[in-house]
Amino acid sequence: MRATIMYGTHDVRIENVPDPSIVEPTDAIIRVVRACICGSDLWPYNDMPSSETGQSMGHEAIGLVTDVGSDVRTLKPGQVVVMPFAISDGTCEFCHEGLPTACVHVGFIGNNGIPGAQAEAVRIPYADGTLYPLEVGEDDALMPSLLTLSDVMGTGHHAAVVARVRPGHRVAVVGDGAVGLCGVIAAKRLGAEQIIIMGRRPDRIALARECGATDVVSERGAAAVERVVELTGGHGVHSVLECVGTGDATLTAIEVARPGGAVGRVGVPHYEAIPAAQPSFYKNVTVGGGPAPVRAYIDELLPDIVEGRIEPGRVFDRTVDLDGVPDGYRAMNDRESIKVMVKP
Ligand SMILES: [Zn+2]
Repeated sequence: MRATIMYGTHDVRIENVPDPSIVEPTDAIIRVVRACICGSDLWPYNDMPSSETGQSMGHEAIGLVTDVGSDVRTLKPGQVVVMPFAISDGTCEFCHEGLPTACVHVGFIGNNGIPGAQAEAVRIPYADGTLYPLEVGEDDALMPSLLTLSDVMGTGHHAAVVARVRPGHRVAVVGDGAVGLCGVIAAKRLGAEQIIIMGRRPDRIALARECGATDVVSERGAAAVERVVELTGGHGVHSVLECVGTGDATLTAIEVARPGGAVGRVGVPHYEAIPAAQPSFYKNVTVGGGPAPVRAYIDELLPDIVEGRIEPGRVFDRTVDLDGVPDGYRAMNDRESIKVMVKP
């Protein structure tokens, strides 16, 4: 089969690799119906040292089950499933507590030697725990929105949950990528009264407004903080969704939080220490977050997609086949595209 392998900075290739097959009795094989390129794939795209063997890429997919191991109980060939970006057994104490990204058997698809989903097919370990069955056909019109349940919509929602978004809250979303836009959708869905998107690209800002953003702050650093304080009657926001992952974005997130507020971090951190220890301490600001337990959020988010109350699939503005994946990386990296869907 064909799959996406990254060999180094700006070096993404589509190659023939062995077809996946059942290894453990708890495995399933899915044929990839839709996959996509993630903002977090752009980190290695820009800084991966060259590698002889390469890294198999892709951690978001909707698939069609084609084969199951002898211990798989809940899935059958022919079923359409969401593949969350993390593997989880569904049975350990962390899975029961709603944190499958801390599962004792956790693994991140397309990382650490686990083959990725920008491919024709993938082997899914702990298939019963990991995959989420859907009641749709593979050409359903809702596919783009359903695909966001494998990462970006669940991740934006996680930022909003950790930032304790409540009805009537003032919210700031740091970052205008797909996760930030889903964060806007999530904040609106949870009843936020004011949603300030902090970003600067006109196409993304326009979409953020359509998704529920009430205000836009395009300044950066101290000027951005000042603007948010102004827009919120002088105190800052109750909830901040940090959807970038840089030290600067995190500093801004903490600075725009009002006393007693909370910051939900979902941008993969590219910094060593959380900044602003003094201001966050004296403001009693809670800083939390991590890899979103997207598998655990599907029950809650799916009905809103199926019944048309949210449409997170709008973050996709380009669709490519596997041959188009390398150029899809380039387009996202050049900010020509917000998020690229892959139809193998
Ligand atoms: Zn578990």
